[in-house]
Amino acid sequence: MSLKANYHTHTTYCDGKQSAAEMAKAAYEKGFTYLGFSGHSYTAFDESYCMSRQNVLQYRKDIAALQTEYAGKMDIFCGVEQDFYGTDDTKDFDFVIGSVHYIKQNGQYYAVDESEDLFLKVVKEGFGGDYIKYAKCYFETVAQVVEKTNADFIGHFDLLTKFNEGGKHFDMTQKAYRFLALEAMEALLQTGKPFEINTGAMYRGLRTEPYPSYDLLKQLQKWNGKVLLSSDSHDGNSLGFQFAEIKQALQEFGFQVVHIWTKQGWKEIPLSEIM
Ligand SMILES: [Zn+2]
Ligand SMILES: [Zn+2]
Repeated sequence: MSLKANYHTHTTYCDGKQSAAEMAKAAYEKGFTYLGFSGHSYTAFDESYCMSRQNVLQYRKDIAALQTEYAGKMDIFCGVEQDFYGTDDTKDFDFVIGSVHYIKQNGQYYAVDESEDLFLKVVKEGFGGDYIKYAKCYFETVAQVVEKTNADFIGHFDLLTKFNEGGKHFDMTQKAYRFLALEAMEALLQTGKPFEINTGAMYRGLRTEPYPSYDLLKQLQKWNGKVLLSSDSHDGNSLGFQFAEIKQALQEFGFQVVHIWTKQGWKEIPLSEIM
């Protein structure tokens, strides 16, 4: 048995490149059994990437129509990727991804993943060039993301490493950095919610490892953390990107099971069954 599932899917209603119908078609053709849409929730302080309030309504209608169209062939869910600083209600969605895309420093919101230039600028201007101080602010926010967003799973846990491939700007193996990351991980473990293993930046050629990094995933396994595979897709081609490689890595690290979201909520399945 091989089962394909992805619950992190964007469309043209937010910053995705293809329509919901195109994404559903691509997923179906790739043999997916479960597809979760996760449009970016509205953030008033930055409207550049998220769904507008009008778009949210159309998005929900559109996904509902696709649910009917694919009934019996592929289970489609209408979720939302709720930013830590998003304020709109999420109760009408099938599931919620809790994600930190901004850190707040001196009363200002700074995007974490917008561009390398912005990342460098924020570290320099907001944190005196100290990456550990930046990481502290980031991970202290992440530690609270489930509580704040009421998320069903945790989005791109260490997104702050997006522009740090190979330790280009800061050393991800240093004690101070790992301490902050693992402290946040421990706090989130208490919530019992799964962490997504996100290959989005790998697809974009920015990273050779998923979020969370392999180093952090090994610790997550030791702590019995729950995981699910996720491609954070902004186009149909990226659906399920590198899932076979991730599955192999998880097997090496000792993971036995992964989580899938179903109409009945979370279900644990053997890692060997996922594709
Ligand atoms: Zn995100
Ligand atoms: Zn996303």
